[in-house]
Amino acid sequence: MDNQPTVNTAGSVSVPPASAEKHHKYEFFKVVQGYLDEAAGVIGLPEYIQTILSQPKNEIIINFPVKMDDGTIRLFKGYRVQHNNLLGPYKGGIRYHESVSLDDVKALAAMMTWKCALMNLPLGGGKGGVKFDPNKVSREELQRITRRFFHALGSNIGPDTDIPAPDVGTDAKAMAWAMDTYMNTVGSLFRQSVKGVVTGKPVAVGGTLGREKATGQGLVYCIQEWAEERDFQLGGATLIVQGFGNVGSFTSLILSRLGASTIAVGDHTGYLYNPEGFNPHKLQDWVKKNRSIAGYPAGKSISREEFFKIKADILIPAALENQIGIEEAKNLQVKLVAEGANGPCSPEGEKILIERGIDILPDVLANAGGVTVSYYEWVQNKRSEHWTLEEVDERLEKAMQRAYREVVELARQKKCSMRVAAYAVALQRIASAYGERDIFP
Ligand code: GLU
Repeated sequence: MDNQPTVNTAGSVSVPPASAEKHHKYEFFKVVQGYLDEAAGVIGLPEYIQTILSQPKNEIIINFPVKMDDGTIRLFKGYRVQHNNLLGPYKGGIRYHESVSLDDVKALAAMMTWKCALMNLPLGGGKGGVKFDPNKVSREELQRITRRFFHALGSNIGPDTDIPAPDVGTDAKAMAWAMDTYMNTVGSLFRQSVKGVVTGKPVAVGGTLGREKATGQGLVYCIQEWAEERDFQLGGATLIVQGFGNVGSFTSLILSRLGASTIAVGDHTGYLYNPEGFNPHKLQDWVKKNRSIAGYPAGKSISREEFFKIKADILIPAALENQIGIEEAKNLQVKLVAEGANGPCSPEGEKILIERGIDILPDVLANAGGVTVSYYEWVQNKRSEHWTLEEVDERLEKAMQRAYREVVELARQKKCSMRVAAYAVALQRIASAYGERDIFP
């Protein structure tokens, strides 16, 4: 069953690995280390900083028992990797997926360090995950798994220590359970002051307006910058979107308001093509209800291979890492790959895209809108404030534009790729802080 799906939840999407890499294990952390080394070379990063950043500070692995609906006890394996907290508390999502491994979580935690530094947030990088398929458990089991995992994390997390958020397979509801669990462990005196222990919460319990769509919205701001630079008209443009969970669906929806139409979509259940363009509202509602695009009554079913050959303007990979390998990169007929997912291009795939003149908006920049609005949520929680949607969007737009320009500028100056430039801008910021503080003792 090549290229057959794994299932997950909460509007998140998983798809099989890129064709070129499916026969050997993809070492995601090594890939991220490779970019770190390249960017370090480009800016002449002091060696001791590169050494510190080459491994995470803490790697927490927890095996925890959960009572299932049938009365049996199942043991789950959870991870929280805290990569770096020089600039502020560790920050990053919690992933529920059957493929979660220490290697992935380490890679994703390091990427959060770069993302927060690039966006100039007073936050470090972390990531967590639990290895299971959330679509194969009941709602009640999902709640017990979440509460038990966050209870087991104990004081390893906290509003000024390490602040989780949603990621693949988790959503606002999971964050509400996580917050409630944490609040019940700190004692009644402190309960109200620890809302900011997680972000991406429902608005009713301290979440911020604009967080749900934030990653897609940030991606669109970034695409708009690219379009302006290239003199490209988004009105009338065509998109193909891999993954129609939170990121893919909001990106498609927001771009549709700018006149761009989504002509193909795919997720763990397969791929659909509709040259007339899908209605992103209807498709988003469908996926929320059915947890996948399967059975959606518009569009023709196509193969994964056909999807990557479709002629369109923009590809939005919004699923998992390692989706665009050598074969996909050779086949793609788009002008831009805007990385909604973390790590969707393999280094080999990226090399081919660059050779073929296809632009890439790299993950660390392109999907940083999520963590940026998480930061706004955290600030509002600290100040007991509620910002309007306009205020959130306006700040996010400025933040994305600034980061985009910094990356483009450095890429031009150093004649390197946008990805290496994004890492380099982040590293420069981290290096200035290390330079001022020196190393204890
Ligand atoms: N999981 C998201 C990411 O990969 C958001 C993290 C956050 O909001 O802390 O950037």
